[in-house]
Amino acid sequence: MGETILKGIPAAPGITIGKAYLLDSEDFTISKRHITEKGLPDEINRFQDALIKTRNEILKIKDKISKDMGVEHGEIFSAHLLVLEDSMLIEEVITKMKKDKIGVEYVFLEVLRKYIKTFSKMDDEYLRERISDINDVGKRILRNLLGAKQMLLADLKEKVIIISYDLSPSDTAVMHRKNVIGFATDIGGRTSHTAIMAKALEITAVVGLEKITKVVKNGDILVIDGNRGLVIAEPQKKTLDKYHAEKKKYEKLERELMTLKNLPCETLDGHRIELSANIEMPEEIASVLRHGADGIGLYRSEFFYINRGDLPDEEEQFKAYAEVAKKMAPKPVIIRTLDLGGDKFLSQLEIPREMNPFMGWRAIRFCLARPNIFKVQLRAILRASAFGNLKIMYPMISGIEELKQANAILDEVKSELKKKKIPFSQDVEVGAMIEIPSAALTSDIMAKEADFFSIGTNDLIQYALAVDRVNEKIAYLYEPAHPAVLRLIKFIIDSAHKEGIWVGMCGEMAGDPALTVILLGLGLDEFSTSPILLPEVKMIIRAFKLSEAKKLAKKALTFQTGKEIEEFAREKLKEVLPELVIGRA
Ligand code: PEP
Ligand code: MG
Repeated sequence: MGETILKGIPAAPGITIGKAYLLDSEDFTISKRHITEKGLPDEINRFQDALIKTRNEILKIKDKISKDMGVEHGEIFSAHLLVLEDSMLIEEVITKMKKDKIGVEYVFLEVLRKYIKTFSKMDDEYLRERISDINDVGKRILRNLLGAKQMLLADLKEKVIIISYDLSPSDTAVMHRKNVIGFATDIGGRTSHTAIMAKALEITAVVGLEKITKVVKNGDILVIDGNRGLVIAEPQKKTLDKYHAEKKKYEKLERELMTLKNLPCETLDGHRIELSANIEMPEEIASVLRHGADGIGLYRSEFFYINRGDLPDEEEQFKAYAEVAKKMAPKPVIIRTLDLGGDKFLSQLEIPREMNPFMGWRAIRFCLARPNIFKVQLRAILRASAFGNLKIMYPMISGIEELKQANAILDEVKSELKKKKIPFSQDVEVGAMIEIPSAALTSDIMAKEADFFSIGTNDLIQYALAVDRVNEKIAYLYEPAHPAVLRLIKFIIDSAHKEGIWVGMCGEMAGDPALTVILLGLGLDEFSTSPILLPEVKMIIRAFKLSEAKKLAKKALTFQTGKEIEEFAREKLKEVLPELVIGRA
């Protein structure tokens, strides 16, 4: 096969060269996980759930095959159902789990392998043929137990580039950080949470490649160009040489950018801008500090709630928030309250499947409907506020009523804490994310009820332009520089400033170097983005005068299309900082 170039959407910057590892291959490696006596019933339940799920899957397949190909073909799956109903196998797993106190997937795989070994030694040909049934059903059960992908991702033994149809935020969260040097997926958009996690993990990534899982084979050599959104499979020597050289150049630029770490984020005419980082997990603080952030502008607290079988209690949340507060103090940390839904799901809260999850029962809507879950989080944040400079921010506010309702619940929690004499900071700022057009257009009203705004452009753009943020087919329409988006941003900033409150931006747009100067000129007070993108934003802010940026923003608003605006901004950036534009899509 010659060299193949695939074009996708850049998700996390950098250039990486390595071997492909196709996730959907079925090579299971599972870690031995010890469980406690108390955890045993949960493990047994998980096993039973996986068996039920597997049974339903097989029944569905049987039905479909019978319809499409005839009943006799469908009957093959009756043999699979028999394996599932084998009480000896099931009993053996449960007994072994009780005895050894080991997680179910490990025990199950052990028992399964024993079965296969026994069957393979049998003289009876019919029974020997059952091995493939057992194997097939076994893998299905394993997949349902944990999600095969997650097992593989956590257990990789060598450095690889992961190739997969999709990776959910929970898949990326368990990724073995040392051994995953890049990833590329068929689906996904620039602001999908998979892309956001890739940046947080500092793993070069390209998403939305449409057919990479069909083109690439295990072990193929790949170049992942996370700057331009390209993947090159089986590159020619010429291409490899070019990318090795570019990788060096890029790493040199990165080193240069890191030297800005301790310099203030201010314009040439001395206007100070707050440069903050977005994080998903407390472990990212090291990276936040290494990249010179002034604070945390968005702590996506919902990552606490995924990848687990129960809800985090107050104590657990308190510890995590207090740790972040202490490590960052006196720098501010904005904790965004639970924002589940959209492409971040959580099975145990039983949020029903919806036709339009991004416009559904999510974020603040969910919290207002489940005040008990919301209050646990608010109490944990308030208690942690005694240990640093915490601020609270509500996601997906659509109008003043929701903001008032959320604040009323917060007041209740404060009174309860006061009554119990539990310490918390009296002046925690409370802000609203502006990420729904209705909130943007009523930001003048809401500015009276909030201490600050943070513009969530990932959602604001998808709602304003009616473009699903994770759908690669319409990614070309997802335009941060669209005049409609810039007008909304301008209105939000002007409304906030009229009321004397500050405005930040925590969507991915805040880390887009092409638009930094325009946002600066529109009057944005704070830029919050993935730690790895901060140095570049700082370099740009330090290269312009605010007065000049204002002129450029004013001019940008006169163009008719997003493309013209982006081109204009890119040209201006190139004039001032030519080295930055290399390798950008
Ligand atoms: C946003 O919508 O811009 C945002 C920052 O929130 P999230 O990406 O978590 O939806
Ligand atoms: Mg959002």
